[in-house]
Amino acid sequence: MGIMNLHIKNGIVIDTKNGIKAEKMDIFVKGGKIVQESEIEGDVKVIDASNKLVVAGGVDMHAHIAGSKINSGRTMRPEEMRIVRQTAGKLRTSMGRVLLTSPAIGYEYAKMGYTTSFEAASPPIGSLHTHEELDSIPVIDKAMLPVFGNWHLVFKYTAEKDTEKMKALIAWAIERTKGFGVKVVNPGGVEKWMYGGNVTSLDDPVEYFNVTPREIITELVKATEGLNLPHSVHLHCNRLGVPGNYETTIETMKLVSGFKNDERQVLHVTHVQFNSYSGSSWRDVGSGADEIAKFVNKADNITIDMGQPVFGHATAMTGDAPFQFNLHKLLGAKWINKDVELETGAGIIPLVYLPKNPVHAVQWAIGLELGLLTDSDKVVISTDFPNGGPYTKYPYIMAMLMSAKMREKEIANASPYIQKATNLPSIDAEKTLEETIHMTRALPARILGLQTKGHLGVGGDADIAIYDLNPLEVDPSTEYEVVEKALSTPIYTIKGGEIVVKDGELVQEVWGRTYWIDAMSQVSTEVIEEDLDDYFTHYYTIQRYNYGVEEAWLRAPEKIVVG
Ligand SMILES: [Zn+2]
Repeated sequence: MGIMNLHIKNGIVIDTKNGIKAEKMDIFVKGGKIVQESEIEGDVKVIDASNKLVVAGGVDMHAHIAGSKINSGRTMRPEEMRIVRQTAGKLRTSMGRVLLTSPAIGYEYAKMGYTTSFEAASPPIGSLHTHEELDSIPVIDKAMLPVFGNWHLVFKYTAEKDTEKMKALIAWAIERTKGFGVKVVNPGGVEKWMYGGNVTSLDDPVEYFNVTPREIITELVKATEGLNLPHSVHLHCNRLGVPGNYETTIETMKLVSGFKNDERQVLHVTHVQFNSYSGSSWRDVGSGADEIAKFVNKADNITIDMGQPVFGHATAMTGDAPFQFNLHKLLGAKWINKDVELETGAGIIPLVYLPKNPVHAVQWAIGLELGLLTDSDKVVISTDFPNGGPYTKYPYIMAMLMSAKMREKEIANASPYIQKATNLPSIDAEKTLEETIHMTRALPARILGLQTKGHLGVGGDADIAIYDLNPLEVDPSTEYEVVEKALSTPIYTIKGGEIVVKDGELVQEVWGRTYWIDAMSQVSTEVIEEDLDDYFTHYYTIQRYNYGVEEAWLRAPEKIVVG
């Protein structure tokens, strides 16, 4: 089919970045971009979008879609490969229930109207593997975040409080890994796990390095802001999955009170549901979501994503190896543990969220509380795929946020413990369709610093979803089934100006780009040369010249130069 001129006619457009609230208008596409009508010449394919919702393609800012973790997870769940999702025509067979195969990951995003997804954690040393898998995911644009929070060199520069060296390390590592930003997972805690421990507060020192989580986070934020990267530090907090952890989460957010950036947040705290627990054990666990939401709503430099669990199959996979050990003990479930030399660790555990299980029901309720109580300009919809469940459930989460009635029905099927331990049953707030569109498009694009994503203004990428939903007529509060179904099956998904989905079915495979950040002109790596040589000579198992990924190895790299 190729890239063609498109005229999307009479659609009802919601484009929050450009202040368009359900207005009837036309959209024009040329060369994969949104353009003015006057720029169109020659053949034009007209798409009649009368009474249909027209929005930008969805942006998933936090999912685990590529790399060693999801691959190990697939090995642990061979039964998933019995589920064939698609075998049609020229397209590749795609399989999986939760741990989808690489083709299925791209196809299922497109079949939901999503066109961009970020792999949220890759060990720097494993980045080639991560990119090989990202390159086998069709349709979507993508990027990956290398992890920094337990890297011995990061500890060294934290202890020395040397921002110039930290900036050089970050710029060098992002260039070497073809990464996009600075991910931090349980800073200090994963290193302590190498000795069987974990951190219990922001002030626990890490053995042999004389640094604390408080110092690691602060120094990484300082360096990231110094480089003015498009995306802020992206933090998986300490004490994830521990009852009572909501207080640590708030303490962590306070660390950035002195930082300000005119373009974006200075800290994105991810899958906050897992860090919003009150109580002192799993027997009295409850929700700290209202305290977290209050704090985020007041702060002008913090954003979050939900990490919403959905009932059904999931797989916990995270660099937070000590958390995974606790989960393994708690569930008695099969478990993989991994140490990544000098840089990080990881764990993987298949699991199922059950509505009648009191803890699962509380987790489910907390995610929704966060989504409902936090300002729609500060909270992004995520399941932390596959940790909370499949991203294919985003339309369900959107519908739940828009309908107290739907929640009431779901609450009736869940453990009654949530009545006691959470506020969800008494929350009657409902997000509007415009707000949930914002939380899945313009907001994640802004948080990531992607100028051409999440909106339909001139110059934007022609990533467009058209749904069989008239926002001027539908009432999401009562017609939640209609809304969920419509958002799950776009009439059209257009990626870079090409029609990839029609009437909910994939019609062709296209290939997206991999964004990466080059901030090298801002630093002199000379200041870290000696340390790099020392570490590669004495501690790493590989040579320095074998470390990293060259741009030419990627299928369709798109470099973003910063500074
Ligand atoms: Zn994650």
